[in-house]
Amino acid sequence: MSPFVKGEAEGRGICKTIVLKSSIREMRIPPPLKRRTKIRNKPIFIFYESPLKIAWIQQSTMIDYPGKIACVVFTQWCNFRCHFCHNPECVLPEKMLLFQNDLIPEEAFFNFLKTRKWLLDWVSICGWEPTIWSDLYDFVKRIKEMWFLVKLDTNGRDYRIVERMIQDKILDYVAVDLKHSLHVYEQAIGVHQEPEFYNSYQKLLQILLESKIDFEYRTTVIKGMHTAEDIENMAVYIRGAKHYYLQNYIGGNTLDPNFWGTPFDDEELEAFKKIAEHHVQHCEIRK
Ligand code: SF4
Repeated sequence: MSPFVKGEAEGRGICKTIVLKSSIREMRIPPPLKRRTKIRNKPIFIFYESPLKIAWIQQSTMIDYPGKIACVVFTQWCNFRCHFCHNPECVLPEKMLLFQNDLIPEEAFFNFLKTRKWLLDWVSICGWEPTIWSDLYDFVKRIKEMWFLVKLDTNGRDYRIVERMIQDKILDYVAVDLKHSLHVYEQAIGVHQEPEFYNSYQKLLQILLESKIDFEYRTTVIKGMHTAEDIENMAVYIRGAKHYYLQNYIGGNTLDPNFWGTPFDDEELEAFKKIAEHHVQHCEIRK
């Protein structure tokens, strides 16, 4: 059985609020195998070997697509350590190892999908960060072969897998996190990133802007971390994007127990929206 129960703050992409259901037992389980991929002899990304690990499934929601029903798959692990992350249990390896035995097997997920063919329109694949898994492509392809529409949430870590899925027409929607102004990105994500990450992020943006696929960028905006200038920087960076969603921060359990951020009020959010609207096709506040 999955260790999770549904939390209160659904509809926030990768950053869902989820709580542990089962008591945590101490177990000694090794982390998944890691494989480095090389481009021009430089290692750029770490992949976790298959099979992809499913931490939790939200069986149905209409939040992402009004009028359409989706299920949401949460894969394990993330390459970031955002201070404001509401799911440290699913991001920090030392915490995740405690409930490895409760993960949902891939076949169980596909059996679930078979029984929901009549009900579901979409399958949304959320992270923590799905592109970490080396078999994500095959996983998405298999869902697509069952005639579901597929959405992928990513923090932008690897443009190549998204590009391949778009080219092969197995993806219908991409949602990308934009955490902060690029010059202070690491302050938000809590870890150092090599220039390869930013190059990949930029490349993904170009691919999305030039493709016909529907996509969105979204930022969890946090008082104490973002300013109007940051909103402008971010909107300029994704200039021309089809959709840009500003998601107000909700307090609660955070990866950094001393996290200092607070939510913005409605007036401040509206002001941010007006700034962003100058640069993107469509901007909305997502509550
Ligand atoms: S660490 Fe950051 S990117 Fe990863 S799941 Fe948490 S909020 Fe999302």
